[in-house]
Amino acid sequence: MKNNLSRRDAIKLMGISPVAAAVLASTSTSSIAEASADVVGKIVIVGGGAGAIMALSRLSRAISNPDITIIAPNEVHLYQPGQVFVGSGEMQLDDLILDNNNYINQDEVTWIKDEVKTFDAKNNLVITRAGESVKYDILVVAAGIQYHYEKIKGLTKEDIGKNGITSVYLSDLEKGTAKGATATWDWFNELKTAAKTKKPKVLYTQPNTPIKCGGAPQKMLYLSADYLKLEGLSADYEFVTSQAKLFSLPAVDKELHSVQAQYDNITNKFQHHLKAIDVKAKKLLLFMHGMKR
Ligand SMILES: Cc1cc2nc3c(=O)[nH]c(=O)nc-3n(C[C@H](O)[C@H](O)[C@H](O)COP(=O)(O)OP(=O)(O)OC[C@H]3O[C@@H](n4cnc5c(N)ncnc54)[C@H](O)[C@@H]3O)c2cc1C
Repeated sequence: MKNNLSRRDAIKLMGISPVAAAVLASTSTSSIAEASADVVGKIVIVGGGAGAIMALSRLSRAISNPDITIIAPNEVHLYQPGQVFVGSGEMQLDDLILDNNNYINQDEVTWIKDEVKTFDAKNNLVITRAGESVKYDILVVAAGIQYHYEKIKGLTKEDIGKNGITSVYLSDLEKGTAKGATATWDWFNELKTAAKTKKPKVLYTQPNTPIKCGGAPQKMLYLSADYLKLEGLSADYEFVTSQAKLFSLPAVDKELHSVQAQYDNITNKFQHHLKAIDVKAKKLLLFMHGMKR
């Protein structure tokens, strides 16, 4: 039966698009792999981060004559998980800066170094910031997510790195900078200095929105507490999360509680999130879930 399965039948069976079927075929049976040769149509990929580069790589391997255009402004690929390690002094910023030319082969792929400003799905068209119209048959959107620090009343992006505030997430993917990483490492050292004369009160907050790394707020909590421990110092740590648990998976949640028990001074505030901040006075307003806004 394997040998008699036509490409069309294979796609029907899979219940997915020809391109997706071909991608799967690249790691699947040889009969479906042959079908990838006749995939036609112009593919446009929007974005130049991990998602877009993975889609590009899989599609390029799965289709024998791919017609792919990638629209991404960033020559630099910023390895964002490493921001946690730059923030805790384990890596240097340079370690995170990779060259997108190593992942986008311009002999095989058209690379428009710009952002998409308008999606015109009715006409299978995207328009770039510079005004270029690009038609597509198949569109892959991997433009990531944006940060909106200003949704916390009283806070702006410019406050990161000042007045005892940091955010390990902050980056500019187009420029290939990660201010959040370097500001967090400075913050670690400010915290250490403060802990030499008193026990500072430190709040770590986890947003109530989808975020890039759900684990990062806790990672920064434990890494900064360990950094103080190295010199026999400590602080009063409070972890504020919109979730009802430390982690959604019970086994991981249990493990994290035992990790926390290794520090004598972490308290958790569940089902709360940061609603407003007075940056100068270093005061926070926490929103408790279930309360009327
Ligand atoms: C601090 C931190 C720690 C993390 N830790 C981990 C971890 O331990 N494990 C893990 O798996 N993940 C981790 N992540 C998450 C991981 O980095 C992201 O999931 C991943 O980078 C998302 O890739 P993406 O391609 O979807 O988006 P992004 O990496 O955000 O890339 C988006 C791309 O789209 C481009 N773009 C944006 N808008 C447009 C537009 N309009 N037109 C064209 N291009 C556009 C940008 O220039 C960029 O190239 C972490 C992230 C952070 C910030």
